[in-house]
Parts: sequence; C-alpha cells; structure tokens
Amino acid sequence: MTLFEKILAREIPADIVFEDEFCLAFRDISPQAPVHVLCIPKSPIPRIGEAKESDQALLGRLLVMAAEVARREGIAENGYRLVINNGPNGGETVPHLHVHLLGGRPLAWPPG
Ligand code: AMP
Repeated sequence: MTLFEKILAREIPADIVFEDEFCLAFRDISPQAPVHVLCIPKSPIPRIGEAKESDQALLGRLLVMAAEVARREGIAENGYRLVINNGPNGGETVPHLHVHLLGGRPLAWPPG
C-alpha cells in the first residue's frame, strides 16, 4: 500500500482540504510555496504515464478539483501552478498519481 493509499484509508493523518467521491486534496507535508496541496485520485493510478483511456473522466475531475481548491485557498486570482512529476527524472517519489497545486508566491520558470 502506498503512502497516499494510507492517507486515503485514514491510516496516517493528513490535512485534508477537499474531498469528493473520486478525489482527495491534502496539504503537502513539506510545502514548497505558501499554498502546496496534493490532489490525488482515489483510484490507485501509479503515475500519469500509466493512465488508461478509461481514466479520462477521472483525470478531468482531478484538474477541475485542483482549480476549485485554488479558488478556495484564495490563490486563483494571482495565479498558481499545477505540476505532475512522472518517474525518476520527473522527481516522482510517491507512486500514486498526484497533482501538486502550488501558489501564494511568484513561481520561477523554467523549473530547475
Ligand atoms: P512527488 O515528489 O511528486 O512524488 O511528490 C510527493 C510529495 O508528497 C512531496 O512533495 C512530499 O513532500 C509529499 N509527502 C510525502 N509524505 C507526505 C505526507 N505524509 N503527507 C503529505 N504530503 C507528503
């Protein structure tokens, strides 16, 4: 069971900011910006590279939810970034698909 599945199962604590039937959003334990929330599907898709055609609606829901969380966190007007790390070079450390929502300060581009 991955770390995020344990959070989904409420086996380990998390600061949950939003939940619906399909997705969960909680604060990153090591925030890289004033607002840093992880948005995950409840289905155990390991990473975006392994998403299937049948996951299309869920992936859309995940992005719509991330935008809703951004509004609720008060960062929508000034802007924010959504990031999906995929595989070792992408910086993925937890093998359960997650969208990072980062905001609350200007974010440099390109990323390092
Ligand atoms: P990634 O490197 O894209 O796989 O992102 C994994 C993220 O999970 C990192 O930003 C970590 O800080 C975060 N993280 C690890 N453990 C926890 C936890 N127990 N609760 C919340 N976020 C976590």
